[in-house]
Amino acid sequence: MDKLLNDIAPASTTDVAEEKTVDTGTEIAPGAEAAPESDPVTLGGTAVSPGAAFGHAQMFAEGELEIPHFTIEKTQTRAEFTRLRAAVHTVDKEFGELIAELNREEDAPTEAIAFLELHRQLLNDDSIISETQDIIRERLINAEWALSLKLEDIRRSFEEIDDDYLADRIDDIAQVIERVQRVLSGRRRPADTVSRMMSESSVILVAEDFSPADILILKRRQDISITGLIIEKGAATSHSSILARSLEIPTLVNVSNACEVIQTDDVLLMDADKGIVIVNPQKDGMPQMSERIRKMNAVRLRQRKLKATHCVTADGCAVSLLANLALPEDAKEAMSNGADGVGLFRSEFLFMNRPNFPSEDEQFETYTRVVKAMRGKIVTIRTMDLGGDKLPSREALESIGEDPDKPIANPSLGRRAIRFSLSHTDVFLTQLRAILRAGATGRVRLLVPMLSWMTEADIVLSYVRRAQEELKDRGVKYAENIQIGGMVEVPSAALCLKQFLKRLDFVSVGTNDLIQYLLAVDREDPDVGYLYDPLHPAVLSMLYNCINTAHRAGKEISVCGEAAADPVFAFLLLGMGLRHFSMESARLLPIKEFMLAANAQDATALMRRIHRAHTIQDIRKHILEYFADHDELAAGFAASQVLCARPWQSFKDA
Ligand code: PEP
Ligand code: MG
Repeated sequence: MDKLLNDIAPASTTDVAEEKTVDTGTEIAPGAEAAPESDPVTLGGTAVSPGAAFGHAQMFAEGELEIPHFTIEKTQTRAEFTRLRAAVHTVDKEFGELIAELNREEDAPTEAIAFLELHRQLLNDDSIISETQDIIRERLINAEWALSLKLEDIRRSFEEIDDDYLADRIDDIAQVIERVQRVLSGRRRPADTVSRMMSESSVILVAEDFSPADILILKRRQDISITGLIIEKGAATSHSSILARSLEIPTLVNVSNACEVIQTDDVLLMDADKGIVIVNPQKDGMPQMSERIRKMNAVRLRQRKLKATHCVTADGCAVSLLANLALPEDAKEAMSNGADGVGLFRSEFLFMNRPNFPSEDEQFETYTRVVKAMRGKIVTIRTMDLGGDKLPSREALESIGEDPDKPIANPSLGRRAIRFSLSHTDVFLTQLRAILRAGATGRVRLLVPMLSWMTEADIVLSYVRRAQEELKDRGVKYAENIQIGGMVEVPSAALCLKQFLKRLDFVSVGTNDLIQYLLAVDREDPDVGYLYDPLHPAVLSMLYNCINTAHRAGKEISVCGEAAADPVFAFLLLGMGLRHFSMESARLLPIKEFMLAANAQDATALMRRIHRAHTIQDIRKHILEYFADHDELAAGFAASQVLCARPWQSFKDA
């Protein structure tokens, strides 16, 4: 039986890394020593987003993508206009030179010339420049920042457009604007890189680390067309990894020595499913890789057809699949992946990468954009989960009297999420008013992160009432009966859930944090990543109890942590009675395909067996046995990460 179980276990990233990784640190692995420099080297990592990619490496340096934000004096507006016009002129000249160069080349692709000419036309659109100048004049801000606001403006007006071709032109405008911003801020890549990035879509970005702020910028950058992401540090459940997953490209984290071994322009063959990247691979591996990429594309195409299919298990159990969003722009992707609504809008990302906190009006506009984009489907807005690794800028922190340099011993146990909100009640009330106003425009629910005390829930309810009164006094429309939910992320909330549910309308379980706090394993720290196991009997039993408690109280419960997007774990949750799952949009269709083939009664029976098991080994054994007999679930099983072998699993106890 053991042999059978080993054979059917999905490829574990740990196993692969152990088997295949060449440690290129101080000790050179056997064979690599004598090899010429360009010989292939295989590095191992942890998959954050699945898939395979092939392309050239581009090293990423910290801060490369940031756009400076600063305010100016009224007397400096003219100088800012001049800077803007000079930058436009420089970019125009560059376009001219590139077009002339391409025209001289005999075999230059005509599409490339047409593309550059279109960009040149957009650049010379007077209205963009004059309206950006208006923003500089009115808001007294630098040209780079004003251009970002202008782009946001244009994006909003493009959302109304029904024609796909025209709607796609926003990407061209964004590329042009960002090119001007780069000239303005003096952060220009070498010309060869820029032109390669423009003409190819096969760049794999390699970085030592990415902060959530970096990935956010990357999400917004339209001119970088990347096919893969390799991060030397990082853990699978960090906020950076969650955001990276929403980029929908194969991503590996915890790739030891990546920045030492890989250099810009190296050819990389990346197999995120197996947790490996081959640097400068030999040609004979290519046909298999292109065959895999072809198969993956075929799977995507097949899953796309399920967009409008209701998610009902094979034995007739309806399941709702909701999307997790980080930015308002993500709503479009949620809709195109057939989301039943938004289960988690991580609003804190609106508060990052800027020198101030967003105003009530700005937030209202952003939230209503999501409501509108979701066309009548439910939108759950989580109040800002700031703190920990998700920090506002220095200037923003200083503006509310915080010392950005104050050392914090344990950021994830500190003043994070609702604790941050309740210590900055002006900022919190501003956000509540914006959410309540958005609630008058559609189906909005409010979700509170990291509750650990009932008193916190009571205080939040009183602030919601106060925000409603303030809006009433102002004569502004707002949601009078907004549903208020809480995140179950701290074990104390899970254990006292019955009491919390007397105050709350619904709950959403954040397994990313719940596992971190229950098992005392920092979700950001790869050194203890092997202990971060959703299959720990304590985690399963806590989830099971929460689901039962919520059902007995007649309240909705969903799971919005990453575990909900893992097919095998989602099956266990289904067996515990969960019917609402929220996840990154990219996971919605693969999970829907899996659920359509799954049997909820079987899942319940499996959970019963697991419930009687006391060790992680027994739990794994029950799962493996079940899936060995169910070919219809094989694809989901192969994509699952929860069964990856972990070093301690040979121990007797969990
Ligand atoms: C969670 O903790 O599971 C969750 C969804 O919140 P976040 O990942 O943003 O901390
Ligand atoms: Mg959380």
